[in-house]
Amino acid sequence: MKITMKMFFISFWVVSLFGFQSNISAQNKYTIVIHGGAGYISPEISPVIENAYILSLTKALNIGKKILEEGGSSINAVEQVIRFFENDSLFNAGKGAVFTSAGTHELDASIMVGKDLTTGAVAGVKTIRHPISLARLVMEKTPYVLFAGEGADELGKRFGVEIVDNKYFNTTKRFNQWLKKREKEKIKGTVGCVAIDKDGNIVAGTSTGGLTDKWPGRVGDSPLINAGTYADNKTCGVSGTGIGELFIRNTVAYNISALMKYKDYTLKQAAEEVILNMLPKGSGGIIAVDKDGSYQFVFNTSSMLRGVANSNGVFEVKIWK
Ligand code: ASP
Repeated sequence: MKITMKMFFISFWVVSLFGFQSNISAQNKYTIVIHGGAGYISPEISPVIENAYILSLTKALNIGKKILEEGGSSINAVEQVIRFFENDSLFNAGKGAVFTSAGTHELDASIMVGKDLTTGAVAGVKTIRHPISLARLVMEKTPYVLFAGEGADELGKRFGVEIVDNKYFNTTKRFNQWLKKREKEKIKGTVGCVAIDKDGNIVAGTSTGGLTDKWPGRVGDSPLINAGTYADNKTCGVSGTGIGELFIRNTVAYNISALMKYKDYTLKQAAEEVILNMLPKGSGGIIAVDKDGSYQFVFNTSSMLRGVANSNGVFEVKIWK
C-alpha cells in the first residue's frame, strides 16, 4: 500500500513535470512575418528612401513582436501591424493607397484566423481609414465574410470606425506615380502580416490600395480569402502580394496550405511550388508561417519588402533577394 502511494505520487510528479514543460515550450513561442509589397522597388532607389522603408518595416515588426512577446493574440498583432502600415504613406495601403483610373482610391483588406477558419474582408472601400479593422469587424460582428463598395463603407459608419474623405488618400507621391504610370509599370506595395501566437493560433491579414490606375470597381486578390490571404492552424498562414489577377486564378494562398494538408509538403516546398512553379516570373510573392512557427518568404520578383521576428531572437528586415 505504502509503495503504491509512493508510485502514484512519483508518476503524478513525472506527468505534471512533463506536462508543465511541454506547455511552457508551447506557450513561449511566437513568430511574426510582415511584407510591404513585392517587385516595385527599383535597384536605383536612393539610400534615403531605402532607409525610410527599412525604418518603417522595423517599426511595424516591433509593434507586432511586442504584442506577441507579452502574450497578446496573433489577431491583435496582425491588426496593429497593418494599421501602422495603413498610416504610413510609403506603402500602398490606407493613407498611401494608389489612384484608380478615375483619380479616386478604392481599398481592399482581409483577415483570417487559423483556429476556426473565421475570416472577414472588405473590397473597394472609399472612406475607411483602416480597412483591416473593418475586415476584422466583419469577421467578429457579422454573420458574413465579405462586404464590398458602398455597403462596406456604410457598415464602417455603423460600426463607428474612423471615416475619412476619399481625398484623405491623395498623396503627392502616388499622384506623380499615377501620372507616370500611364507608363508601363504597375505600382504595387500591398502590406501583409502573418503571426502565430503563444497559444499556437495563426492569423493572416492583407491590406492594399490595389494596382495603380485600376478601373473603378476592380477587385484584386487581397480581400479574397484563398487567393491573397489564408490561415489554418493545421497547416500555415499566408499573405500574398503581386498581380492580383494571377493570385486569384492560381488560388495562391490556399494552394500552399492545401499542398501541406493533402500532400504533406513542408511550408518551403509548398510555397516554392506555387510561387516559383505555378506563377510567372515577376508576378509577386508571399510571406508565411507554419504551425511550428517556421517561416518562409518566397517571391519571384527582384525584391520584396519583408521582415521576421520570433521568440528565438530572430529579428530581420530585408528588401532584396
Ligand atoms: N495584390 C494586389 C492587387 O492586385 C497588389 C499588390 O500586391 O501590390 O490588388
